[in-house]
Amino acid sequence: MSDGARASIIDGKATAERLRARIGAAVKRLKADHGLTPGLAAVLVGEDPASEIYVRNKGRATEAAGMASFTHRLAADSDQGALIDLVRSLNTDDSVNAILVQLPLPDHIDADRVTEALDPAKDVDGFHLINVGRLSAGVGGGLVPCTPQGCVMLLKDALGALAGLHAVILGRSNLVGKPLAQLLLGENCTVTIAHSRTRNLAAETVRGDILVAAVGRPALVKGSWIKPGAAVIDVGINRMEGVAGKSRLVGDVDFDQAVTVAGHITPVPGGVGPMTIACLLRNTLIATAAQAGLPAPEI
Ligand code: NAD
Repeated sequence: MSDGARASIIDGKATAERLRARIGAAVKRLKADHGLTPGLAAVLVGEDPASEIYVRNKGRATEAAGMASFTHRLAADSDQGALIDLVRSLNTDDSVNAILVQLPLPDHIDADRVTEALDPAKDVDGFHLINVGRLSAGVGGGLVPCTPQGCVMLLKDALGALAGLHAVILGRSNLVGKPLAQLLLGENCTVTIAHSRTRNLAAETVRGDILVAAVGRPALVKGSWIKPGAAVIDVGINRMEGVAGKSRLVGDVDFDQAVTVAGHITPVPGGVGPMTIACLLRNTLIATAAQAGLPAPEI
């Protein structure tokens, strides 16, 4: 952008509210037509304050959508076997259609082992290797990680078809960067993944018609790193000290600089974050329908 123009703001909060309303309507139809109430079980190990807040918010959103919410708490010193036993009992509980194990887990627990104990059909975060494999192979029918799914929805809302666009993703985590790359390949983008060992990051990022930052480094991405007119999705959530001892959230993109260069940009907060929860509800609904042998609901 030039001549003092500013990027249009991608309003993730509003998009997520609309999606949640559509999910709520689909839940009502599922109840009326098939007597089914989707159920989401969250498992929390220990007392990490941020995880407590996430799980509480997810529970509220689940109930607001007309779904059943269950929370299971285990002490921080619980052993891995107890957690896996709980996961297995939820796998066979018919009132539970979706299970999430809140990360991070305490150091003595191997998160991969726990994820592999999940029934892939109830793996609402899409982390089980079966779901990872389905996404990588592009065969469909799996559950897709919520944050990358939310990013793609925001991009399609802002840009329409994404085919042929060059997408640069900053960050290669299993949670965000890698699944997002698969989703954007599925949308026929040309995809570059850059990361902590990439040489000359800015030379890569400036090529992106789409630039997604998922690194966890406050304001890493400067205005000069962005192709003029690009769509910028800021996944980062970094808690910084604010005024009067209050904390504030900052993304991975220097918003004040980026907004003068990009064509579209997500704010932090109010961008990707709300979409993550909405996509969790969407996955819960999709999982419930699939388990009942019903077609994927229209949402
Ligand atoms: P992660 O720590 O697992 O991965 C970070 C990635 O960034 C790594 O691949 C690493 O190679 C790369 N990286 C780190 N420093 C870098 C640097 N200086 N230059 C280039 N690349 C660098 O993190 P994650 O789980 O993918 O999360 C990333 C960010 O997104 C975090 O701030 C997290 O809080 C946030 N997040 C937000 C949501 C949401 O709902 N909005 C969901 C998940 C994660």
